[in-house]
Amino acid sequence: MKPARFEYVAAKTVAEAIDARSSFDDTVILAGGQSLIPMLNYRVAQPDAVIDINRVPGLDTISVDNGAVRVGALVRHRQLELSAEAFAAHPLLREALDNVAHIPIRNRGTICGSIAHADAAAEMPAVLVCLDGFVTAQGSGGERNVPASDLFLFHMTTTLDSDEIITSATFPALPKGSGYAFEELTRRHGDYAVAGICAVITPGPDGNCASASLSACGIAEKPVRLSAVEAALVGTNLSDDAVSAAAALVDDMVTNEDDGAGGRYRRQVARTLITRAVAKACQRAAQGRA
Ligand SMILES: Cc1cc2nc3c(=O)[nH]c(=O)nc-3n(C[C@H](O)[C@H](O)[C@H](O)COP(=O)(O)OP(=O)(O)OC[C@H]3O[C@@H](n4cnc5c(N)ncnc54)[C@H](O)[C@@H]3O)c2cc1C
Repeated sequence: MKPARFEYVAAKTVAEAIDARSSFDDTVILAGGQSLIPMLNYRVAQPDAVIDINRVPGLDTISVDNGAVRVGALVRHRQLELSAEAFAAHPLLREALDNVAHIPIRNRGTICGSIAHADAAAEMPAVLVCLDGFVTAQGSGGERNVPASDLFLFHMTTTLDSDEIITSATFPALPKGSGYAFEELTRRHGDYAVAGICAVITPGPDGNCASASLSACGIAEKPVRLSAVEAALVGTNLSDDAVSAAAALVDDMVTNEDDGAGGRYRRQVARTLITRAVAKACQRAAQGRA
């Protein structure tokens, strides 16, 4: 199929893009086009205007500040994945990015595009949620930071206003002494995840779990923070039994029943991925690699 008719606007500044967003009823942003173009071709999206931001200067930079990584709206998945500076500061990002689609898609697709697209099974929104990250958005009302916890509403739906553009996403630093892991299961490598788990674990001086951040993609209608699992882990000695008991609490958070087994399979996958991710994170914390 071909897309329905739309106006094409090649914005040269963020202000031009915001103006264009305000001038039409229904607009979309063309960043990497890896999700948008199929949606246009299948007529899932039939916007009045497509606003191309690829000519806007200054949106393609990665900056690292005290372990936090900020990526501009035109930073491609692959650009961040290959950034030695970002990897040295924040190795979790590369581990998660390795699971995003295939290299040709990562060459074009952007991190901010993935966050704006808000596919509930996408990896980078879950990483943003796990780290308590935020996006910076600009619209006709000015600029604001939107925490990940307030951003994702539902599958492919965010709280951004219709004239807002994400100009950057910020992934906060890993806590000192922590370990990290991103684990997922896909039917084929490069597919969206059946379930994916992002984990950051900080053991205390006594070896017990001092803090835990976990999030998941694929299990619900949006990326979710696994607060009950986190609470059950903190204070334990992170033994296999303690982690298994905590992981079992994910069951109630799995609302995506679309696995042909009423969600049973996805619950089992999520539990297993949690135990793997926590074990890997603990191992890395012990090795002082985070
Ligand atoms: C075969 C295939 C497999 C894939 N597998 C995965 C996968 O496993 N995991 C995964 O996470 N993704 C996957 N993707 C999607 C891919 O990662 C996309 O690149 C990403 O979801 C969107 O980024 P983009 O820059 O291409 O955005 P675009 O396609 O250009 O835009 C997507 C949507 O986001 C909005 N948008 C984009 N940028 C902004 C912005 N700066 N501000 C506001 N709104 C914006 C647009 O309006 C549009 O609605 C896959 C895609 C394909 C084709």
